[in-house]
Amino acid sequence: MGGILVCVSGPSGVGKTTVCKRLAQRLDALLSVSITTRPRRSHEVDGRDYWFISRKEFERRLEQGAVIEHAQVYGGHYYGTPAEPVIEALAAGRVVILEIEINGTIQVKRRFPDMVGVYLTAPTTEEQRSRLVGRAADSPAAVAERLSKAEQEMGQARACRAYQYFVVNQDVEKTVLELERIVQEKQRA
Ligand code: 5GP
Repeated sequence: MGGILVCVSGPSGVGKTTVCKRLAQRLDALLSVSITTRPRRSHEVDGRDYWFISRKEFERRLEQGAVIEHAQVYGGHYYGTPAEPVIEALAAGRVVILEIEINGTIQVKRRFPDMVGVYLTAPTTEEQRSRLVGRAADSPAAVAERLSKAEQEMGQARACRAYQYFVVNQDVEKTVLELERIVQEKQRA
């Protein structure tokens, strides 16, 4: 396959979604839309942010082998990457971006050892907290849960060896440029 598969992970509130959207625009890349069993937030659109499906439907897709990777995240909800669009885009030589968590990235790494793994980090925990609170999507308890997980996840990200790059997201534009440079370097390799 000719394309390049990029997995972007990082703690909640670090700005992954914004970075991935801008990177996808700049590289004319496919930004994969995941399936999830988590309830839709009010600003989210089905088919744009996620495909919101039932647990039964999710399990059916797993059985069909229609997902590349999947994981159970906060609150026990399932998230997964639909295989078909990703495989097609890679076959067409495109860059494909997956915004997924660590366990998913580990699965992708096994299947596509040549993937590029990027772990985004927040400049400070305080900054991350204010972004989460500002987003107002989660209850205070959920914010606390996400923050305490952030530290633990960072250690896991380093230990799992699926990520070659750890990038501090201090400034979105700079981060996007850095990721663009990483992908272009891979394209030249
Ligand atoms: P949120 O519910 O805030 O949209 O996302 C929660 C977490 O799930 C984020 O860390 C996000 O990167 C991760 N995630 C989203 N889609 C997928 C997916 O398809 N697979 C995996 N493994 N994680 C995902």
